Amino acid sequence: MRIELRSDTFTKPTPEMLEAIAHAEVGDDVFGEDPTVNRLEGEAAAMFGKEAALFCPTGTMSNQIAIKVHTQPGDEVICEQQAHVYIYEGGGIAFNSGAQVRALRGDRGRIMAEQVADAINPDDVHKARTSLVCLENTSNRGGGSCYNWEAIQGISQVCKMNGLQLHLDGARLFNALVATGQSPRQYGETFDSISVCFNKGMGCPIGSILIGSGDFIRKARRVRKVFGGGMRQAGFMAAAGLYALEHHICRLQTDHDHAKQIATALSKKDFVGTIMPVETNILIFEVTGRYTATTLADTLKHYNIHCIAISPTQIRMVTHIDVHAVMVSHLVSVIDDL
Ligand SMILES: *Cc1c(COP(=O)(O)O)cnc(C)c1O
Repeated sequence: MRIELRSDTFTKPTPEMLEAIAHAEVGDDVFGEDPTVNRLEGEAAAMFGKEAALFCPTGTMSNQIAIKVHTQPGDEVICEQQAHVYIYEGGGIAFNSGAQVRALRGDRGRIMAEQVADAINPDDVHKARTSLVCLENTSNRGGGSCYNWEAIQGISQVCKMNGLQLHLDGARLFNALVATGQSPRQYGETFDSISVCFNKGMGCPIGSILIGSGDFIRKARRVRKVFGGGMRQAGFMAAAGLYALEHHICRLQTDHDHAKQIATALSKKDFVGTIMPVETNILIFEVTGRYTATTLADTLKHYNIHCIAISPTQIRMVTHIDVHAVMVSHLVSVIDDL
């Protein structure tokens, strides 16, 4: 029994999802004629109370398209210093948009309104024009941490007062919604654009959706084509997305419970140091004493349990739809015996 905890991107479609894929009605989406893509874009936009949405192959492309539409070359983008858009998208902000980043030090990936306000450049020819703020919820490097709603509202107000656009990298937004009880509509009202991944906890093989105003998505559709993301019979993948919206959001709490169970087992061990608070499906903990992060990961590998040493002293585990209750029980008993 292989237990894959390296990432929630390792999920494979369930038989039911494959069935939905096999029966999808498709067309050429570059011509706007794929009915399943159109349905997914319509449903996602309606869910968030926004005018329109755009199906993209990856979360990286959704984010990069949003940044491109919201900025001009030479602009400055404010984000947290460990944000995916900044450290894990290949320098895309500079490469694709010719913009630079003002990286703020946050608390487990989350920044505050006062920090944002302080980081906005004055109208001065020496300074880059601050035009966009990007938030990430849940935060990947923050160990699946969630923003509290008041903090987001505060940042949104700072953006409105200063004429800044506000984008959400919501790769795991549904995990955050399940954990905090906010609604997609609240997020739709607050952000100018939102990207959400289908290829993570939602269990789809491919896909991300970018949501925004009609005007924003018209521009985004053009940029997606330029980036090489205009897909043809993409309805097969959109069908997986539609299936996940209906059937996989309601099961995310199980992943969160599993992560907490694993954390409880780890907390009893002398070789485990600080465990980041487990808010969703990501668990990051410090390894001390008789193991390093690498030797512990290697030890677990002998039990066919796969996780990642994200630094010399830290291990990350991510729960998802293919990590079943029996696997969690097995993992807990392996940890107990170490
Ligand atoms: C995974 C991820 C993305 C996008 O990743 P893709 O692999 O390009 O789909 C964006 N932001 C965060 C926080 C992520 O974890």
